[in-house]
Amino acid sequence: MARAAKKKQVNSGKNKSVSAKKKSIQTKNKLPENKDKLNKGENQGFKISLPHPEKVQAWGMNSHSLSSVLRPKTSAEIVEIFQYANSHSLKIGLRGGGCSYGDASINNDGIILDLSDYNKILEFDASSGKLKAESGVTIKQLWEYGIERGFWPPVVSGTMYPTLGGALSMNIHGKNNFAVGTIGEHVSEFTFLTANGKILKCTPKLNSDLYYSAISGLGMLGCFLEVIIKMKPIHAGKMKVWPVVTRNFQEMFNYFEQEYKQSDYLVGWVDAFGSGKGLGRGLIHKSVHLQEGEDKDFPENCKLENQNLPTRFLGIIPKSWMWLFMKPFSFPLGMKFVNFGKYLSGFLSNNKPYMQGHAEYAFLLDYVPNWKYIYKPGYMIQYQVFLPKETAKAAMEEIFLHCQKRKIVSWLAVFKKHRPDPFLLTHSLDGFSMAMDFPVKNSTRSKVWALTYELDEIVLRNKGKFYFAKDATMRPGIAKRFFPEKNLKQFYSLKKKYDPKSILQTDLYKRVFLS
Ligand SMILES: Cc1cc2nc3c(=O)[nH]c(=O)nc-3n(C[C@H](O)[C@H](O)[C@H](O)COP(=O)(O)OP(=O)(O)OC[C@H]3O[C@@H](n4cnc5c(N)ncnc54)[C@H](O)[C@@H]3O)c2cc1C
Repeated sequence: MARAAKKKQVNSGKNKSVSAKKKSIQTKNKLPENKDKLNKGENQGFKISLPHPEKVQAWGMNSHSLSSVLRPKTSAEIVEIFQYANSHSLKIGLRGGGCSYGDASINNDGIILDLSDYNKILEFDASSGKLKAESGVTIKQLWEYGIERGFWPPVVSGTMYPTLGGALSMNIHGKNNFAVGTIGEHVSEFTFLTANGKILKCTPKLNSDLYYSAISGLGMLGCFLEVIIKMKPIHAGKMKVWPVVTRNFQEMFNYFEQEYKQSDYLVGWVDAFGSGKGLGRGLIHKSVHLQEGEDKDFPENCKLENQNLPTRFLGIIPKSWMWLFMKPFSFPLGMKFVNFGKYLSGFLSNNKPYMQGHAEYAFLLDYVPNWKYIYKPGYMIQYQVFLPKETAKAAMEEIFLHCQKRKIVSWLAVFKKHRPDPFLLTHSLDGFSMAMDFPVKNSTRSKVWALTYELDEIVLRNKGKFYFAKDATMRPGIAKRFFPEKNLKQFYSLKKKYDPKSILQTDLYKRVFLS
C-alpha cells in the first residue's frame, strides 16, 4: 500500500478544489501573523453580521434553539468572532457535527458557532501516523483519508459524523475503550483559542491544565483549532468478528471479563425487555485486527469503494427508506417483538466468526440513515450510565427492572467496557456502561424525565457517572454528586480564568452547571 508522503499538505475529504487547498495552507501559515493583528483588533477581512436565527436541533430531536448560526472557515474568522463576542457581550455555543443526543450544542439566548466548515486535513506523517487537522474535520474524513494509506482512527464513535472538536470536548470513547482509552489519549498536541482570545499550544506538558481540561471540557473554555491525532496502522481491510449470544447479564459480564485481553473491540447489544432468567440477555460482537499478511485481499479491500457502507438494502431498497419499514414496529409491543427477534436470530450465527470491513463494524448505527425518525412525531433521549466494575452488574439489573416496573423500557440498549483516563470532566471509569434509548412524546415527557431521576439515584448510590454527550435530563446539583469536588472546583476556576466574560455557553452548561 502506498503510504502518504511524509509531512504532505493534504486536502479535506470534501473534494475541495486545488485553489481551496492552497488557500487553506496559506491561512495556516499566516495564523501567527493574523493572531497578532487580531489581538490588536486590526483584522478587517471577515465582517460579522448575525444572520436570521434558524432552528438548531439536538441530535435526539428532544430540544432545539433558535439561534443565529455563524460558519467560519478559518481560524482567523473564529478569533474575530470571539473578539466580537467579548466586546459585545455575545454568548456563543460551539457546535461540531451536532451529534450530541441532548442540548450540548444548542444555545438558546445566544448564537451558534458551527465549526463544520473549518474542516481541512493539513498534514500527515506516515512514519509516525500523526495527522494534523482543523477541528471541524469529521471522523468520516479521518477514516476515509486514513484507510487507503493503511491507517484507522484510534477511537471512533458508533457514528462517523462527529467532528474532532466535538469528540474532544466530550472526550468520546469507542468499542475499544477498555484497551486504548478515550480519544483524548491519542491527541498529542492541539492549538486552542481560549474564550478570552489567546491562542495556546497545548500538550500533556505545555499548558497542561488546559490540555487536560479542554479535552472533556464541553466547549466551555475555548475552541480547538488545529489538532494532532495519532492514527493506528492497520494491515487488513477487514477484521475478524465473533457474534456470541449471552442469555443474561451474568453471561455478558463473564464473556467481557474473559475475553477483553484477547479483543480489540467488544460491544454488547442487550434486549431490555428480557426478564426473569433472561434479564440482560443479548448479543456480543467481539473483533480483532488481522496481523500483517493475514488478509489476502489487502490492500485492495482498503479502497474506499470496498469500505463504504452500502447505500441499498439487498442491493435494491435505498437505505434512506429503511426507517420507513422500521416505523410500523415503533411502539412498545412492536419493539419488544423486534428485540426478541434479534436475540433469537443471534443463535443462527452464534460463535461462528466472520470477516467484516472496518467501517461496517465500527459504524453500525449509520447503517440505516435517519433511523431516529422512527421516534417521530415524538423524539428520543439516550441515557448512558457508567458503573464501577464492582457494582455494575447489580446496578444494571436494578435499572432494567425499574424501567420494566415503570413500563418505560429502552428500545435499544448497548453495553461496553471502560477504563479510567486523566481528563478533568471525563465520564469514563474502571467498569462498564449501558446506553439506553428511550422514546419520548410530549405526553410522556414528564414520566420519562421522572424515570431518569429515579435511575440517577440508583447510579449515584452505586458510585456511577453520567456522560454529557448523551445527557438531556440531568438536574442541577447532580454533577457535584459524581465528580470529585476538586475537579469541579478546578473546572469553575479555569472557566473564570479563560472565559472571564463567560462568552461560551450551551443549554447543557446552563442547565447543569449554572442553575
Ligand atoms: C448515533 C450516535 C452514536 C454515538 N456513539 C458514540 C460512541 O460510541 N461513543 C461516544 O463517546 N459518543 C458517541 N456518540 C456521541 C458523540 O460522539 C458525541 O456527542 C460527540 O461529542 C459529537 O461530536 P460533534 O462534533 O457532533 O459535537 P457536537 O455535538 O456538535 O458538540 C459537542 C460538544 O463539543 C463542543 N464543541 C464542538 N466543536 C468544538 C470545538 N471545535 N472546540 C471546542 N468545543 C467544541 C460543543 O460546544 C459541545 O459541548 C454518538 C452519537 C450518535 C448520534
